[in-house]
Amino acid sequence: MDIKKFIRPTICSLKAYEAKEIPCKVKLDANESPYGFPEGLNALKSIKTNRYPDPEAKALKRLISRDFGVKPQNILQGNGSDELIYYLITTFGGPVLYPVPTFSMYGIIAQAIGEKKIGIPLNKEFDLDLKRILEAIKRQKPKVIFLSSPNNPTGNCFSSAKILKIIESTLSLSVVVVDEAYQPFSSRKGFLPLLKDYKNLVIMRTLSKIGLAGLRVGFLIADEEIINEVNKVRLPFNLNSLSQTVATELLKNRKAMQSCIKLIISEREKLLSGLEKINGIKPYPSEANFILFRVKDTDTVYKRLLKKSVLVRNMKGVVDGCLRVTVGTPEENRIFLNTLKEILSISKS
Ligand code: PMP
Repeated sequence: MDIKKFIRPTICSLKAYEAKEIPCKVKLDANESPYGFPEGLNALKSIKTNRYPDPEAKALKRLISRDFGVKPQNILQGNGSDELIYYLITTFGGPVLYPVPTFSMYGIIAQAIGEKKIGIPLNKEFDLDLKRILEAIKRQKPKVIFLSSPNNPTGNCFSSAKILKIIESTLSLSVVVVDEAYQPFSSRKGFLPLLKDYKNLVIMRTLSKIGLAGLRVGFLIADEEIINEVNKVRLPFNLNSLSQTVATELLKNRKAMQSCIKLIISEREKLLSGLEKINGIKPYPSEANFILFRVKDTDTVYKRLLKKSVLVRNMKGVVDGCLRVTVGTPEENRIFLNTLKEILSISKS
């Protein structure tokens, strides 16, 4: 029996998201926080494992509502923001437009659902090519537009004026999702203040980059009508009790969370200047918790780093000639920089 005959062609030609567990001592490949939140686990004792989780995640939404100055009705919880990307495309359909390179799940999920994808290359500065995007909007009328700002994997924020222009020119046409997964590390203003003015704007956030990647907690903030529609496709108990409880604890501990973020930002700047000092490396400035850098012979450098048990992300096929390193603890960053220097000095001699 040829199983492929029964599988939708869009799935047959789809490449699965690559997320392999590669054993290493210094793990700097997945844009996670180097700091966990073990204190949050103390609250798990009160969980009733025989009961379904709160389908509305009320306690969590109350804290998000306090922190972001929005009503609980403007929030929708997801099992990571990945799940919310699924829900958004399921709700609004395609075409789905996004710049490239960007977070790969927008394209993977669009294709999985069978929707058309429109990828518009970024310009040389890794900013949005506004002219081409506006042309594509006019011609192809996308239903959902994803803009990750700060962008993964380039690390920069897109020009706010360009994002605004896209939101304004799609008012009665598309939903514009500003994916602010890395906003906690950015010096630039996010798009939250604009929600009240633009009904087609959706802000997407995650707790994955600030210590809870293992628990899968993401959320949308948008107009109540959008939230109600997307909520129709949400699985009833999508956010489990453990994740809801620990996420709520994390948000209660705002001070500890903020100090981890501050430390990551200051380490990012040290990592950047460390990379700038290495001959043969061109790092790109970053507003996120990772740095993209150009290096000759990326495959060899990647493999040699891994041989020394330092894992980064090889961006081959996404931004050719580049590796991406996540900001780790001061010790991890020091090991990474020293190992990289050592590797490059060997390959020169
Ligand atoms: N958006 C962007 C831009 C990301 O880089 C990532 C994670 N790599 C996500 C969303 C997904 O985050 P989550 O863990 O919440 O699914």
